[in-house]
Amino acid sequence: MSSPERVRIAPSPTGEMHLGTVRTAIFCWLLARKTGGQFLVRIEDTDRNRFVEGSAERILEALAWLGLEADEGAYLKDGAYAEKGPHGPYTQSQNLPMYQEIAQQLLDGGHAYRCFATAEELEQMRSEQQARGELPRYDRRYRTLPCEESDARAAAGESFVIRQALPLDREVVVHDRIRGELRFNTRDLDDHVLLKSDGFPTYHLASVVDDHRMEITTVIRGEEWLPSLPKNALLYEALGWEAPAFAHVPVILGQDKSKLSKRHGARPTLDYRGMGYLPDALVNTLVFLGWSPGTEQEFFTRDELIASFSMERVNPAPAVFDAQRLDYVNGWYIRHLPLSELAHEVANRLRVDVSDERVLRVTQATQERLKRLDEIPEVCGWAVTAPLVNDELRGIVTPKKRAWEEVRQILVEVTEVLEAVDSWTAESLETALRSLVSEERKTGDVFWPVRAAVTGLPASPGAFESLWVLGKEESLVRLRNLL
Ligand code: GLU
Repeated sequence: MSSPERVRIAPSPTGEMHLGTVRTAIFCWLLARKTGGQFLVRIEDTDRNRFVEGSAERILEALAWLGLEADEGAYLKDGAYAEKGPHGPYTQSQNLPMYQEIAQQLLDGGHAYRCFATAEELEQMRSEQQARGELPRYDRRYRTLPCEESDARAAAGESFVIRQALPLDREVVVHDRIRGELRFNTRDLDDHVLLKSDGFPTYHLASVVDDHRMEITTVIRGEEWLPSLPKNALLYEALGWEAPAFAHVPVILGQDKSKLSKRHGARPTLDYRGMGYLPDALVNTLVFLGWSPGTEQEFFTRDELIASFSMERVNPAPAVFDAQRLDYVNGWYIRHLPLSELAHEVANRLRVDVSDERVLRVTQATQERLKRLDEIPEVCGWAVTAPLVNDELRGIVTPKKRAWEEVRQILVEVTEVLEAVDSWTAESLETALRSLVSEERKTGDVFWPVRAAVTGLPASPGAFESLWVLGKEESLVRLRNLL
């Protein structure tokens, strides 16, 4: 058994939680569970321009809904933002003095320097580079500014950022748990900003400081962060800290192999709750984006996932999200819900009391066909709301090439036969209705109008089942109303 892993997700509260972050959270959660470690949630809110009020809370709500709550860090307590654990604060904006202190430490050690370039100066530098046909990048112009001058300008109140002084020409070799050994050269890297002029750290500084102080053992993050890897490694080195392991999980694409978006049916995570997807279905679909169990097994309980999961089975190749597969998986999980649990959903969504016998019966009759819980009003609503008697209903009840009068006659006979049925089971209802079937009158001629008459729907469970769901009294009321 491997040693306990401390892993985290570090979402930025810039909007809704995307499926990519959920997928990372699933991998983290599984690795933590598997190794008896901890799953942490940290809020990276250092980009004040992109901050969205309420975003952190919605991210935490999504995690709670999915059953991926943090062992440590940010979580929702009675609907409000809260933190737990000994390494707080877990929201970066609450910890500014620490990042500033560490930036100062880097300055003192010669691993960082102040850059006084104004926005206009940087813009001009960029356009000159472009005019020369060069790639735009920071040209390190303030790196050689003498310390005394730098200190004096800062003391005089001039605005500055702090940049990391990367070694100028050095190969950096970093191991990735998914991609193996990766080599970079600092020639290709910029002296990026660590501390902004507003005193806020950038991701580069804050994530390293926090991963270190939160004792993260493996940084699991999206592939888009790979370019940060050599910079992170050099920052750990400059600070004299042991670096965690890294694992960059593959990018998620849509069916057409372009970056996953709304166009491919991807939605903000909490939307899936509203649309009637089950947490297990979303987790089970997303865990396959990059990971595979190495067996044919398609559906997993959480415990089975924990038992099967390993970082070694995460593949670096881009993963493709398939919204249709999510529907298929969701249908499977709905079919496997305990009846009473699904009946509660049905009662909630139909706004009726779950003790209503018809709720349980309609749940049983429709469980096989539900793909999403938001279909419940459409698929189950007839059980509690009688169809309106009008031409539309007569149209649905009357098969093509038949006349309403003809169908009406059949329904009169059906009503008489049903009145005599004592034990209201699907079997005795079937026997009763079959007694009306003859050479000239096919089963469909009898069953279709009955089913359509009591449900008011073009598609629903069959005649005996529908009658059984409604019970004798309600079935007869509906038939008589129509007649
Ligand atoms: N704040 C970063 C994001 O939202 C976190 C990346 C990471 O996991 O280190 O993408």
